[in-house]
Amino acid sequence: MKEIKSKNYSIYFDKNRYNKLFNFIKSRNYSKIFIHLDTNTENLCLNVFINQINKLDYQTIISEAGEENKNIESCVFLWNKLSELKADRKSIIINLGGGVVGDMGGFVASTFKRGVDYVNIPTTLLSMVDASIGGKTGVDLGVLKNQIGTFYDPKMVIIDPLYLETLSDSELASGYAEIFKHSIISKTNNFNSLISKNIDFKNIDLIRESIEIKNNIVLIDKKENKERKALNYGHTLGHAIESYFLKSKKQLLHGEAISIGIILASFISLKKAGLSKNCLKNIKNHILKIYKKISFSENDIQEIIKLLIHDKKNSYGKINFVLVKNIGTPIYDIEVNNDLIIEAFKYYSSI
Ligand code: NAD
Repeated sequence: MKEIKSKNYSIYFDKNRYNKLFNFIKSRNYSKIFIHLDTNTENLCLNVFINQINKLDYQTIISEAGEENKNIESCVFLWNKLSELKADRKSIIINLGGGVVGDMGGFVASTFKRGVDYVNIPTTLLSMVDASIGGKTGVDLGVLKNQIGTFYDPKMVIIDPLYLETLSDSELASGYAEIFKHSIISKTNNFNSLISKNIDFKNIDLIRESIEIKNNIVLIDKKENKERKALNYGHTLGHAIESYFLKSKKQLLHGEAISIGIILASFISLKKAGLSKNCLKNIKNHILKIYKKISFSENDIQEIIKLLIHDKKNSYGKINFVLVKNIGTPIYDIEVNNDLIIEAFKYYSSI
């Protein structure tokens, strides 16, 4: 399977991918190689990696697993660890994990000694199709998502579906939310194909097609001035819901929150952007086939709305949404008032 080229790096899928990584590392003559893992990927993914590439002289650096640890304190731990292990500017970090390992490891790489090289080897479906691609790195600030971060590209991304064998069904479904989002904002025929069949989440063609959609958008607008905003479809409310659940220590995965955000954004799209009733129905039915419904009290909704003010897409104090006029036709920077957001939650409760 041919690689996908981004501006500064390639995303490899074929069985030669680990040789490419090995040859790349050798050719750059790195002083030290650090494999950044979390406590789960250390147990479940490191051996898979080592079986593929056994000639590397590496040291591991381990973060605590989970979104609640995607914060600056964990970065301080990693910066100290690198310093203790005498990392220098010619060191490289290999992020072997999900979106948390990749976002945090990329951020640490972008800031340690003003920037060292890094590679992403995503081990969750979500990080394969989304988080590892596009060069956004960062951490949360308290419960507020991705408030601190940089744009800093990896040197290479390696996609190996073997890692998905140990991933739980709920984590696989969480990753699928981003695949479905990509299909809604893209002019490819992926949307119709996804809603008309039972999905095999580990299918490499499905993963590759989704990466292609994201990569093509990032190639046009890396710094999210315009077109890249479309990738935030469902994320304005999705992130606020995720933050609210993090705050109340209730369990809701990133993709589960985003799937609700997609239904809410699609209802708002119907009201404000002319999305057809039929499209909204198809989106809602597909999501409800995969994810359990969550109930929100009036107080929950008010608290979630308060969190919206921290969304990075806002400007001049206004809450800006990405909406879709139709499948493949996103529009950005659309101001939405609280009454319509409450109406969208009522719609979600009624389905
Ligand atoms: P995650 O990294 O927390 O992984 C989910 C869980 O699965 C963790 O407990 C992890 O330890 C475990 N895990 C990882 N690989 C495994 C494997 N192969 N087998 C078994 N368990 C495994 O979360 P995620 O869902 O991968 O990513 C979500 C994060 O990605 C969020 O923080 C989100 O903000 C971020 N994100 C970033 C971007 C970006 O452009 N940078 C895009 C989308 C999402």
